[in-house]
Formats: sequence, structure tokens, C-alpha cells
Amino acid sequence: MVSLMLKKKLRTILEQSGNPCAAFETDQIMKWAADFDCLTFAPDSEIDPLKAEKAIDAAKRRVKGEPLQYILGEWDFYGFTFHVGDGVLIPRPETELLAEKAIAALKEMTGKDSSQRGTVIDLCSGSGCIPIAVAKKSGARCYGIEISEKALEYFKKNIILNKTEDRVTALLGNVLEPNGELLEKLPEKCDIITANPPYLTASEMGELQKEVRHEPEIALFGGQDGLDFYRVIFGRWKDRLSEKGEFIVETGDDQAEAVKSLMEKEGFCCGIIKDYNKLGRIVFGKLAHAAVQ
Ligand code: GLN
Repeated sequence: MVSLMLKKKLRTILEQSGNPCAAFETDQIMKWAADFDCLTFAPDSEIDPLKAEKAIDAAKRRVKGEPLQYILGEWDFYGFTFHVGDGVLIPRPETELLAEKAIAALKEMTGKDSSQRGTVIDLCSGSGCIPIAVAKKSGARCYGIEISEKALEYFKKNIILNKTEDRVTALLGNVLEPNGELLEKLPEKCDIITANPPYLTASEMGELQKEVRHEPEIALFGGQDGLDFYRVIFGRWKDRLSEKGEFIVETGDDQAEAVKSLMEKEGFCCGIIKDYNKLGRIVFGKLAHAAVQ
């Protein structure tokens, strides 16, 4: 089949299913299945029939609601590529704000002294996108904790893909009830703790987009009001923060104020960063004794 025909066919399949990003996704599928770059588009190039079939099959999977990111098997976050697929949360653009804040905070703490690059513990790491991006950008030593063995496999592969074996450690564990074995593998004190925990509410879980229904419930559901993790993690992990250390978390829509209060109850002085839609999205805080100095 020639490329123009294949391109039209994919676009029609996607458009007929009501996909609002049919043109973009067609280009992505052409690149993935047939290594065909639509930017330097030669409409009459012959596409190998097996590759064309792979592309059409991918478009049909999309129509059934499978996320594009799972089909492609990788996705970019903060300018780096990550393996994704069944069993792991797809990195979201909002989470880049969390990574950015952590990188800025590390820079402020360590200053120009490049021998002091800081230490980070990331809770609920999923694909590992946060600790890996932070380690790449700041040079910090990062430890990530993930409860799902399936997600941890992606995390480990992503460490290798991004060549951060010397700076990022992926650990299996439950951040709500960390056991001694896990705690022993972590540094006594760190400069930053990051977390993008599951935060969807019970009612949001009932109204998920069909793509999101393919993502693991364990990475999405944060209890009835979505706040279960925030109720526990600040108290449970604050002892691991160094004196001037900072806790930085992502929150769900309309949760930032409630999460800020939960962090304040544990003795933190907090702030909120808004996302691209002007919604409070990132809550950060230092322990009050450090913040007043
Ligand atoms: N920290 C990971 C991410 O931001 C996973 C989050 C999660 O599983 N809730 O993508």
C-alpha cells in the first residue's frame, strides 16, 4: 500500500470513532508501525504490507479505547523517553510541574557546589518518571518506591533506557506501611521527598475516560475523597527530611487546599503551584522550624 493511502485509511478509522486528535495520532502510528516520518511526507512511498497491517491494527486498538501511549510502548516526560504499557500509569504533563519544582528546590539547596547534588525519595513512583527526570536534570541521587511489581519492572527498564543506573534506585514497597527492609535501603535523611500518589475520588473513578480505564486502578484510586495517601504520607515520611528539606506533591483537581491543610497539620509551612488550567496542582512545604530561619 502506498503511504498516502495508508495515512488516509488510518485517519478515517480514527475520525469515525470521534477521536479529536486523529491527525496527530495517525502520524504517531505511521512512525511507530512503519517508521514513516510524516514531516518529510512522500505520498507515494511503498509501505511494506506487514507494517501497514500493524498500523491498521493499532488504529483499531485505539478505536477500542486502548491509550495511544500503551500502543506505542513509550512516551515522553520532561524531554526524556519512558517505557509505558499495561500495568503502569502514563506520565502526565502536569507532573512535569512537580519535577520542575523539585529540580529548582535542589538547585537552591545545593547552590553552585556541584559536589553537593542532593538526595531525593520519590513515593509511588510508577514508571519512575519523576525520580529519573529529576536525577537527569539535577544530578541528584534518587530513590523511588513502588508497590506494584508490574509497574516496578517498567521503572527498572526506564532507569536503563535513561542511563541513570548510577543515580536512581527502584525499590518495591508500600509507602503507607514501609517495612524495615525497605527503610534500610533508603538514606537516613534526604533533601526532597516527592509524590504523585493515587488521588482520584470514588465518584471520579466511576466517570473515567475509556482510555484511563485501561490504566491500573491501584495507581489512580485515592479512597472515597481521594485523600487517603496525603492523610498518611506527610506524618510517616517527614522524619526522613533533612532540616531544610522539602516535601513536594501533586494533587487532584480541587484538592490542593485540603492537601495543604493536611501538610500544615504535620508542621509544614506550605505553598501551592497552579497548573496550565490555573488549578492548584502542586503543594510543597518545609518543616516550620526550617522555613522561619
Ligand atoms: N509517580 C508516577 C507518575 O507520576 C506514578 C503515579 C501513580 O502511580 N499514582 O507518573
